[in-house]
Amino acid sequence: SEVGSGDVLVGLPTVPFRDEEVRVRLGPAYYAYLRVAEGCNHNCTFCAIPGFRGSFRSKGFDTIVEEARQLVARGAREINLIAEDTNQWGMDFGPDDERRLPELLRALSDIEDLKWIRLLYCYPSYFTEPLVEAIATLPKVVKYIDIPLQHASGPVLSRMQRPGPQHTENLLKKLRERIPELVLRTTFISGFPGETEQDHSATRAFARSLGFERGGAFAYSEEDGTPAAGFDDQIEPELRQRRREQLERGFQRRAEVWADRQVGRRLDILVDRMEGDVAIGRSYADAPDIDNVVKIPGAVVPFEPGMVVRCEIVEVDGLDLVGVVVE
Ligand code: SF4
Repeated sequence: SEVGSGDVLVGLPTVPFRDEEVRVRLGPAYYAYLRVAEGCNHNCTFCAIPGFRGSFRSKGFDTIVEEARQLVARGAREINLIAEDTNQWGMDFGPDDERRLPELLRALSDIEDLKWIRLLYCYPSYFTEPLVEAIATLPKVVKYIDIPLQHASGPVLSRMQRPGPQHTENLLKKLRERIPELVLRTTFISGFPGETEQDHSATRAFARSLGFERGGAFAYSEEDGTPAAGFDDQIEPELRQRRREQLERGFQRRAEVWADRQVGRRLDILVDRMEGDVAIGRSYADAPDIDNVVKIPGAVVPFEPGMVVRCEIVEVDGLDLVGVVVE
């Protein structure tokens, strides 16, 4: 189909959910990904997802809780909630079912052997007061939010058809204020059509001022059928890459500073695997498969994957941390 500027192809709401067996078995048994919604109603001009995933619809409350129970029964100790826009979960239920993400997080928290619940892929809206409160106060919900922002310059965000920088800055400041020790992960796109040096600098400055502990950048690439692919001010691929590297270096520097600050701090570490007598785990600040690890040398029986142990961080090893067990 032909797609004009400002339009995006949206699939039928009946596009089925992806096969959960495939989705949830991606990781080792002690962490799992649980898809809570499918599709997206946003119209980001660079994104083809709504075209093939369909419009946004949430998985049912009881279905999710049951899937989580099964995952925990099979050994999962951490559940990573995923969707195109995870924090929008439940907003399509309407008045007949008023349960939203805070209620879901509470229900998941009641699963006895589940230790951590993590929110990945959040959209910079939908952080209602009850949701912020739930994240801040529920002990099993890790104080980590993954919120891909894509850019931070007003003109670019406007052409991307995404929320503006002031809205997002206010939101992130509020989240930091309300959730002590919050770790924020984001993702930026470099070299979106028409991006000027000033736009790029604005994104770097935004990242510095918000101090993301985790982050990544991708060079823009044209997706077939999206409005942005038809914009006539595409940026040279080399420049997209150069700007991506600059953004990545900024994230790297902030991650290093954050890691240094952890020395002396006590953190719960979820052990993912053993490498000889070194237990390899993660703190709340490390999402599986993408962030860093915490190494616990000299770990002997009864260490086993899936355990959570209290450690004091004694050293930094690159971006990884080294800890000793204190309890
Ligand atoms: S980038 Fe995310 S929010 Fe935007 S259209 Fe794609 S899936 Fe939806």
